[in-house]
Amino acid sequence: MDLIVKNARLPDGRSGIDLLARAGRIEAIGAQLPVPAGAEVIDAAGQLLAPPFVDAHFHMDATLSHGLPRVNRSGTLLEGIALWGELKPQLTQQALVERALQYCDWAVAKGLLAIRSHVDVCDDRLLAVEALLHVKQQVEPYLDLQLVAFPQDGLLRTPSALANLKRALDLGVDVVGGIPHFERTMADGAESVRILCELATARGLRVDVHCDESDDPLSRHVETLAFHTQRLGLHGRVTGSHLTSMHSMDNDYVSKLLPLMAEAGLHAVANPLINITLQGRHDSYPKRRGMTRVPELLAAGVNVGFGHDCVMDPWYSLGSGDMLEVAAMGLHVAQMTGEDAMRACFDAVTVNSARILGLTDHGLEVGKAADFVLLQARDPVEAIRLRATRLAVVRRGQVVARTPAATAALSLPGRPAAVDWTLVR
Ligand SMILES: [Zn+2]
Repeated sequence: MDLIVKNARLPDGRSGIDLLARAGRIEAIGAQLPVPAGAEVIDAAGQLLAPPFVDAHFHMDATLSHGLPRVNRSGTLLEGIALWGELKPQLTQQALVERALQYCDWAVAKGLLAIRSHVDVCDDRLLAVEALLHVKQQVEPYLDLQLVAFPQDGLLRTPSALANLKRALDLGVDVVGGIPHFERTMADGAESVRILCELATARGLRVDVHCDESDDPLSRHVETLAFHTQRLGLHGRVTGSHLTSMHSMDNDYVSKLLPLMAEAGLHAVANPLINITLQGRHDSYPKRRGMTRVPELLAAGVNVGFGHDCVMDPWYSLGSGDMLEVAAMGLHVAQMTGEDAMRACFDAVTVNSARILGLTDHGLEVGKAADFVLLQARDPVEAIRLRATRLAVVRRGQVVARTPAATAALSLPGRPAAVDWTLVR
């Protein structure tokens, strides 16, 4: 059946726009399109129709495990890693699948239709890999789940990690992952990046490494990542995730680094909710924020996406799959409060992240997949401000989730009966 959205606003500011979806693809976009016989009609009533949210960095093997086997009392990264180590031997495939599927339900309800998730390959049983490959297949009709083979305990630091990582790729995991700053030495970290980039080249895969997730300004594996990306011609296929050490590097070095990253076509992912809570923990005052240099990366021509990273797991007991919350935190931490900068934060959880995943079918354009979300807001900035309600979520031309508009009924003398948060702009 055809589906037509009437009278929408688009993120680029166009208003009074209709969008027709036919056979799962966008057939037409324009003003006052005729309604085909029998089509399902959604009256957008001037609200914002946006491409679906994309999460460029997540850990679905750990999600919704908060409290298992105990809570993270200090809230620190190190206690989180220790907790994950305690939990791993107790994991069962069934529980993992159930939690992941539940999270995917949350994601769809929030208009989040594509997720890149790292999956730990340091367990010789590859239990999480098998579980998430099963989940990927199961959710495929309504959510793109891309998996990264992630050697959480270090590629060279853990004896079987490289063999396990290759096995995970053989089983169908999509992307090569790594964690150079966690290897035993700087030299081992650099060597791990070389191995991973060459492996990805040989297999024709993308790379996404947890890179320099540290406040140590001398953690410079991103330089090595840019070098091998350039050397091997992997432009546009390699992502540095976190890159928090860049926050603490001196400006002179960064002035050399940024053009090298841009030249290599490296993508960057910031994880604002997690890095603002986990970084700076060894500081007294002043306390560093730890997030990578988002506006500077963008200005240098580097594509930057935002990731949720964690939801209710050993590292972070909050979160709900709401990428507008991620965008809002990124906006605040990076002080991206200019009008264009705020819009760039909306792009970071939609189009920029889609580029990182290599989703060529993402976006509101004729011929692309009919995937979109109708938000109770009139533009991207208002969507971030209100963490706007997802009035309707559409996947391949079918409505997969609806949420009633947010209103509050008032009983105040001489005042209107309801609150509309969208009246001011
Ligand atoms: Zn991560």
